Amino acid sequence: MLTVHAIDACYGRVRALHRVSLTVARGELATIVGPNGSGKSTLLRAITGLLPVRHGSVALDGEPISDLPPEIIVRRGLAMVPEGRELFPPLTVRENLLLGAYALRGAARRARGEDLDRVLALFPALGARLGQPAGTLSGGEQQMLAIGRALMSRPRLLLLDEPFLGLAPLIVAEIRHSLEKLRRTGLTLLMVEQKLDIALGFAQRAYVLIKGRVVLEDS
Ligand code: ADP
Ligand code: MG
Repeated sequence: MLTVHAIDACYGRVRALHRVSLTVARGELATIVGPNGSGKSTLLRAITGLLPVRHGSVALDGEPISDLPPEIIVRRGLAMVPEGRELFPPLTVRENLLLGAYALRGAARRARGEDLDRVLALFPALGARLGQPAGTLSGGEQQMLAIGRALMSRPRLLLLDEPFLGLAPLIVAEIRHSLEKLRRTGLTLLMVEQKLDIALGFAQRAYVLIKGRVVLEDS
């Protein structure tokens, strides 16, 4: 479903990714593991069009997306849950969720209500807090909201940047369960994680990234 071929990405004159290649097959959960500063977030930014790709290509279902603006890439079915969640703290849970559907047009946009119901079925904790400012949620609830917001854009492929960071084991288990449920319903996932035990516990394929290079790939 996703094919990343030999991409480079740079910050100014500093190259953060060196000819990185990876593939994610439809219906699988793949993971990118690596220490702090190895380029994991940079790789997700390059895939989603937030950072220009300097060499190589990114393709979604065989169609190149590396030169498209991020909002078009979202419409093609790719969504990201960013590092640190990037919610809008003063806005309510409901408003944050609806912002996830911002790039949708036509019938997909009109179906927002049903999409919202699906997200609340997946994360019942959010249902009781729809009118509450996002900033008042617990860390685990904020992560659920960030995932829910991404789901509101109706992705086929969901990218997650360290979704378990700073969360208690019980919450990690709960969110992990939700991600597995999403995969069983047909969603494809690519998740960045620092902790090997969490990542390899439920991924079908893993890439190890060190200093901007893929040094190991295995299923
Ligand atoms: P990771 O997500 O694996 O912790 P990053 O992708 O955030 O790593 O960072 C990879 C490298 O790129 C690091 O050396 C980091 O310092 C650098 N970097 C990340 N973001 C920026 C930025 N906005 N400007 C300049 N350098 C950056
Ligand atoms: Mg990062």
